Amino acid sequence: MKNILILGAGPAGLSTAYELSKISNDFKNEYNVLIFEKSSEVGGISKTVLNNGYYFDLGGHRFFTKIEDVSNMWNEILKDEFILRPRLSRIYYNKKFFNYPVKLFDAVSKLGLKEDFLIFNSFIKSQIFKKEEISFEDWVSNRFGYRLYSIFFKTYTEKVWGIPCNKIQAEWAAQRIKGLSIGSIIKREVLGNKKEVIKTLIDEFLYPKYGPGQMYSELAKTLSEKDIKLNYNSFISSITTEGNKIVSIIDNNDNKYEIDELISSIPIDEMVKLLNPPKEVLNAIDNLKFRSFIMVNLIFDSLVDLKDTWIYVHEPDVKLGRVQIFNNWSQYLVTNPDYSSIGAEFFCTEDDELWNKEDHELIKISEEELKKIGLLPDDFKIMGGKVVRVPKAYPVYDEEYKQNLNIVIDYLKTFENLQLVGRAGLFKYNNMDHSIYTGFLAARNIEYGKTYDIWGVNQDQEYHEEMKSSSD
Ligand SMILES: Cc1cc2nc3c(=O)[nH]c(=O)nc-3n(C[C@H](O)[C@H](O)[C@H](O)COP(=O)(O)OP(=O)(O)OC[C@H]3O[C@@H](n4cnc5c(N)ncnc54)[C@H](O)[C@@H]3O)c2cc1C
Repeated sequence: MKNILILGAGPAGLSTAYELSKISNDFKNEYNVLIFEKSSEVGGISKTVLNNGYYFDLGGHRFFTKIEDVSNMWNEILKDEFILRPRLSRIYYNKKFFNYPVKLFDAVSKLGLKEDFLIFNSFIKSQIFKKEEISFEDWVSNRFGYRLYSIFFKTYTEKVWGIPCNKIQAEWAAQRIKGLSIGSIIKREVLGNKKEVIKTLIDEFLYPKYGPGQMYSELAKTLSEKDIKLNYNSFISSITTEGNKIVSIIDNNDNKYEIDELISSIPIDEMVKLLNPPKEVLNAIDNLKFRSFIMVNLIFDSLVDLKDTWIYVHEPDVKLGRVQIFNNWSQYLVTNPDYSSIGAEFFCTEDDELWNKEDHELIKISEEELKKIGLLPDDFKIMGGKVVRVPKAYPVYDEEYKQNLNIVIDYLKTFENLQLVGRAGLFKYNNMDHSIYTGFLAARNIEYGKTYDIWGVNQDQEYHEEMKSSSD
């Protein structure tokens, strides 16, 4: 029997165990699989939380994928518990709604003649005086002009990343919004979108009746039927290595486990530090930065008259970054359909002022800002609020991240029985499907020998542009 330890019971960790059981024919007495989950529940960032009878997710999780193995697992686990939802997500700016992805004619008609004139001037200027494309700001303003960039890209991007757009790499824009320019938008609006398959996925999405947490609770149930042990409130406190191998670990309750294979979906910095790396690696890992996230779920005593699933808040004078309307995700999430279940989302850094505010203060700020910008009427009364802080939600692709990550990857590759998977695990902007797929590959590497390159998952640029630019 090989002892397999998986760290984290989010989508990646659970899927590793699922795939391992599947390809090894329910383990054929080959593997002894144990999962350590630091919290008291499964699902990680993709869990669903309950607030006085109302369910909400940490962000709003659409289920879409081009990876057949992943959709097979989703269907096998949830069967007919998925609903197909229409997507409407718009930008809110200056008390007006704009289409997302941005549509030129829609924007021009709503911004007003004076603003249109300024945008046009700035666009012409940008075409004459092209900037060298070093930053996100250079890249976008070269294609749209500074004025349009500052309305539709700058404010929101800076809210998400917490750094000025001229410090975010141009490469990130090229990856995420590749192919987007005024020319391409006009062409699409005039000639129509030829990528109908992708378009359908953008306009509609699958969603479990009771939110993404339903998927991962069901998956955990399936795993327990296959004798996979899941230890809640558990984590590694120390690791023993021999040469290039991890041989044993001690958990937070002082239990010792012999290990043959270790798969980690926990944040990469935490994993690497457990290995007591050399100084150079430690420096590199300390310079990989994450952005965190706060979800404030509010229940109001009236139903908001909006069909959006989520709204990007580009208003510069509020901290609020995005708003979810959970009634529009699934009717099963709300107990009373005449009430509104709203998610107010804030992007922040762990331990900054916002992160350290008391829950009641965050609830108050959310309500005030929603009403101040006119998204909710003043007479809506709060019936209940719940705050969830999500550390390390977004890997920050800053100027140095690639160099630092490469140092860390080279070091990790020296351990022959350690594999990293997932989103924070790999420091990669992975959606659920890619996080899950990395788990599948880790399982296959154990069963078939180490042939799959987990670090290479999620390099499909077109997919990024069409699908991911707006999902999280
Ligand atoms: C705001 C937001 C919106 C998103 N929307 C979408 C979407 O619409 N569609 C989509 O497909 N994806 C979306 N995603 C991405 C999706 O949430 C992630 O891809 C997915 O949850 C990553 O899974 P994971 O298992 O790698 O990590 P996680 O979900 O982070 O799970 C990691 C698990 O490890 C546990 N853990 C942490 N430290 C330890 C430790 N030391 N020991 C043991 N356990 C530990 C955690 O408690 C957690 O349960 C969104 C992400 C965000 C932040």
